[in-house]
Amino acid sequence: MAKIFDKTWQRTSLCGLFTEADAGKEVRANGWVRARRDLGGIIFIEIWDWTGPIQIVFNPEAGEIHKLAASLRNEYCVAVKGRMRIRPEGTENPELKTGNIEIVASDFLVMSKAKPLPFEVGDETDNVDENIRLKYRYLDMRREKMQKNMRTRAKINSFTRKYLEERNFVELETPMLTKATPEGARDYLVPSRVNQGCFYALPQSPQLFKQILMISGFDRYYQIARCFRDEDLRADRQPEFTQVDIEMSYIVEDDVMELIEGYMKGLFKLIRGVDIPTPFIRMPYWEAMDKYGSDKPDLRVKLELCDLSEAFRNSGFDPFKKILEAGGVVRGLRLPGGASMSRKEIMDLEARAIKLGTSGLANFLYKEGGLKGPLVKFLSPDDLEKVRELGKMELDDALFIVANESRGKACEILGTLRLELGKKREDLFDDSPDNWKFLWVTDFPLFEWSTEEKRWVAMHHPFTSPALDNETPFDEDPEHALARAYDCVLNGNEVGGGSIRIHDPEVQARLFKSLGITPEEAKRRFGFFIDALSYGTPPHGGLALGVDRLVMLLCGGNSIRDVMAFPKTQKAQCLMSGAADTVEQERLDELAIKVVKEEE
Ligand code: ASP
Repeated sequence: MAKIFDKTWQRTSLCGLFTEADAGKEVRANGWVRARRDLGGIIFIEIWDWTGPIQIVFNPEAGEIHKLAASLRNEYCVAVKGRMRIRPEGTENPELKTGNIEIVASDFLVMSKAKPLPFEVGDETDNVDENIRLKYRYLDMRREKMQKNMRTRAKINSFTRKYLEERNFVELETPMLTKATPEGARDYLVPSRVNQGCFYALPQSPQLFKQILMISGFDRYYQIARCFRDEDLRADRQPEFTQVDIEMSYIVEDDVMELIEGYMKGLFKLIRGVDIPTPFIRMPYWEAMDKYGSDKPDLRVKLELCDLSEAFRNSGFDPFKKILEAGGVVRGLRLPGGASMSRKEIMDLEARAIKLGTSGLANFLYKEGGLKGPLVKFLSPDDLEKVRELGKMELDDALFIVANESRGKACEILGTLRLELGKKREDLFDDSPDNWKFLWVTDFPLFEWSTEEKRWVAMHHPFTSPALDNETPFDEDPEHALARAYDCVLNGNEVGGGSIRIHDPEVQARLFKSLGITPEEAKRRFGFFIDALSYGTPPHGGLALGVDRLVMLLCGGNSIRDVMAFPKTQKAQCLMSGAADTVEQERLDELAIKVVKEEE
């Protein structure tokens, strides 16, 4: 009778969990074949599951199954029965947990064969073209690293639930088929068959729903929520991603921050075994920009920007003077030991700065005899001394300078150079695996100017409360208005962001107006929400943590795709299933949708 998989073949243990205590026992193992070796007629294979491998021995006397073993190929799915034994002396493999034991096969079953493999499944798979890994994602995930990543992800989700539930948070689901919630991206739209011509939007976040849940009296809500944003994908973004979404009533900023600090502390202890110091540093947005040139500064890099405006305001260097007179800034980045950079290195750096959007990158090199550089001849000794002082320059340092009409732009450009220069040098960048530098960035501008749309747009989202201490009402001075928003930043990554929300419908209406949204449009898009706000809304706020990025950092990786089971490519394609795909004409007809191909 043909052998089939039944109870009598079911594993007595996971492969990697057999121990020396099993020696002498009849055991069964199930898994995938890896590493077959033929040693003078004795065949060894390893079979593997997520816990690791166990070695199986086929003696020539085993007849039929020995023959079968000779025909095995990697990734066949097999079951084995046999007696566990301690490996003969000298054949142990100290690198494996199960390196002292092996199963001597007495019966064997091939449950499924595998076609010739597109790549060897193992550590080396990391070097395989990622598109091939994505196409054969099931094989890619059948290896230790991906198993570990995905299981760490599950552990993190489970910790999240436990942590929040212990603190009285209620897990609630919000709809996937919904109305647009603006988070600054395009919506994925889903046509409605029963309401032809109408579309649902997939949620960019549960923002409006979670706020409405506060109005409904669920004063502590959370959800591990899938969000969708139709963006041109930058390097490490995904069209759908996961957030730990949180909202609370009757709270202020500190409450959210303390909650998250406790969460991070527990999480990093659980996953990495490290103690994260709390509370985290808190840094206003403009301080982060001025010092680090970024609203998500990587504090592991030991370089800071400086303000050189005072050295140039009355100097003889007209281009900078003009920029300053026009309300611009002159900012610098000191590079210790940078004076020994070659001309070519300095020119390359300038080319890089120009690519980032400035017209030039000035420099001073502090060598024996004083400051050197193309601008020296335009400055008086006093001004040169000011440059040295403001730039905190020491002998052998270089100072790179950007002048720009926009403070933000000047800072950003130097901020990028700061990371690029700093990360190259061990003395300026400590990237040891458990060097975790958390901070809160606070006091964000409420608005930013969109040159594309020629209007103010919300820097966070339009439901964020203006700061209470704005000097002028936010709608009278949108440029300087600050927001009650905060981001949680870790090693240069924004791992979370949120805000205290507007809970007064009148303020909400004014905010929409500042964004150039007419009352009619506000009513059409957000009428239900403004209406809800007018029924006794508690003050509330919250945040969302980016699960994918957080898991990536905790796993020590550098791509979020490695911590997602089925990620998409930069063109938002799933290479395994072939989505997005065309659909049959009948489906389109039902939806009253006509696809018009753009003329060549
Ligand atoms: N909805 C926001 C986001 O997705 C987070 C928040 O404000 O709570 O970024």
